[in-house]
Amino acid sequence: MHGHQSQKPVSHRVVIVGGGTAGISVAARLARVRGIDVELIEPSETHDYQPLWTLVGAGVLRREKARRRESDLIPRGVRWRRDAVASFDPDRSTLTTRRGDVVGYDILVVAAGIQLDWKKIKGLEGNIGRHGICSNYSFDTVESTWDAIRNFRGGDAVFTHLATPIKCGGAPQKTMYLADAAFRRQGVRDAARIQFYSGEPLIFKVDRYAKALNKVILRKGIEAPHFRHNLKEVRVETREAIFDDLDHGTEVVQHFDLLHITPPMSAPDFIKASPLAAATGWVEVDKLSCRHTRFPNVFALGDCSSLPTSKTGAAIHKQAPVVVANVRAVLDGRKPDATYDGYTSCPLVTDYGSLILAEFDYDGKPSETFPFDQSKERWSMYMLKRHLLPQLYWHGMLKGRA
Ligand SMILES: Cc1cc2nc3c(=O)[nH]c(=O)nc-3n(C[C@H](O)[C@H](O)[C@H](O)COP(=O)(O)OP(=O)(O)OC[C@H]3O[C@@H](n4cnc5c(N)ncnc54)[C@H](O)[C@@H]3O)c2cc1C
Repeated sequence: MHGHQSQKPVSHRVVIVGGGTAGISVAARLARVRGIDVELIEPSETHDYQPLWTLVGAGVLRREKARRRESDLIPRGVRWRRDAVASFDPDRSTLTTRRGDVVGYDILVVAAGIQLDWKKIKGLEGNIGRHGICSNYSFDTVESTWDAIRNFRGGDAVFTHLATPIKCGGAPQKTMYLADAAFRRQGVRDAARIQFYSGEPLIFKVDRYAKALNKVILRKGIEAPHFRHNLKEVRVETREAIFDDLDHGTEVVQHFDLLHITPPMSAPDFIKASPLAAATGWVEVDKLSCRHTRFPNVFALGDCSSLPTSKTGAAIHKQAPVVVANVRAVLDGRKPDATYDGYTSCPLVTDYGSLILAEFDYDGKPSETFPFDQSKERWSMYMLKRHLLPQLYWHGMLKGRA
């Protein structure tokens, strides 16, 4: 080799940690650029389109419909290391895997998602899927929600949302709205008391959508939500959920016949324990460039990052092109000047066939795609979530095309 090629290396090594929504989106875009050598580290053989779990929990489809084989999603030309990262050594630009391999990189992209801390709720272990306790929040538990809803005969149906950051901040209440609709279909709505307990102070942090959701709650006859109440314990023998009332420092005991759990969530432990973590545990990145604030050859996006926006796949849709542009700039010795504006979206399902499509940026300013008022419940937006978005996910976003 001589001339142009010998002066400008054609092969750089980018290592991506995680093959979920963010990792595959970045890998697919990098794979479309010639000459970048990319490795993706991911232990799981499967990949789930988690936004559909809301509908799985409501009996609309089976969980297998939202699952693909990881091997079918790894872009051509990207090397897949089927292993998990155990630790990072960013001063040496290396990481160590669970099997003990040391992997070096020029650029690291961390996209390892969020950790579900089920064990932080006392008395919960082993009880999801029993005693009316259910959760949409994992592949293993999501079908328990539909079981609990369809077997419900009346009494207290309790839905929880915690004070920790969670993925898809709207998901805990969507489940409640769909349960309300299902109870009506089953003829048990009159026998149900539906309650929402949330560690947050508001139903939604963007006023425009909060107003619309408060109307939905009133129309459906759901009890006034209990805000700033954090679930901490479940007592199955007496069917009681125990909450900390965060404003009064007291304990509140609520009986349940159905209990939908949103587990506490945090950064994955191996990230928390690494030099990449901020004090909060998330990978500490600049909120505009997605580049690490202390290690300039490290980037992060998605749920494991410190990006101060609501953690969703829709946010990643906007973050991935920014990360890829900035990774390419660093590799080429240019200034990484692509920026992310905090865009995120939450399709708030309010019934079978109706949805409010919330879209907003870092400032909580609505940033809507369509020319109509998206804070109105619409059938068209439900169809978008049910049919179009999954197609766009598998065939557009994960292929680096959209
Ligand atoms: C019930 C529910 C409803 C939702 N609804 C919506 C919605 O309507 N709209 C929306 O946009 N978003 C929604 N989301 C959120 C969305 O699914 C997530 O924000 C998104 O998947 C996050 O992508 P990620 O790549 O950061 O993490 P993930 O997609 O979770 O991927 C993380 C990957 O990292 C891997 N990993 C973990 N540890 C390691 C390790 N040590 N080494 C290597 N790899 C590792 C994991 O195996 C996994 O494959 C919802 C989520 C849930 C649970």
